Amino acid sequence: MSECGASGPSSIECRQIAELLGEYLEGTLPQQTRELLEWHIEGCAPCVAFVNTYRGTITAARKLRDVDIPPELKKRLLAVLRAQRAAKP
Ligand SMILES: [Zn+2]
Repeated sequence: MSECGASGPSSIECRQIAELLGEYLEGTLPQQTRELLEWHIEGCAPCVAFVNTYRGTITAARKLRDVDIPPELKKRLLAVLRAQRAAKP
């Protein structure tokens, strides 16, 4: 359960994503940690789905459970997440 199957080295594990997500969404994470988290999520479909479910704002999250997400979609989802976060005060 400690690995999400993404290829390449990972400095953050999936369960850490869950622990850090609250601070991440609040924008209180240090930049380095935030980048690590984003880097992990970019390569980890389960975490993308988790983030979207956590936020509860993206209906696509429901589809992620049984569909393989194309990398392009993952990038779009991340862009949406970043835009939403940036839009928050
Ligand atoms: Zn993950």
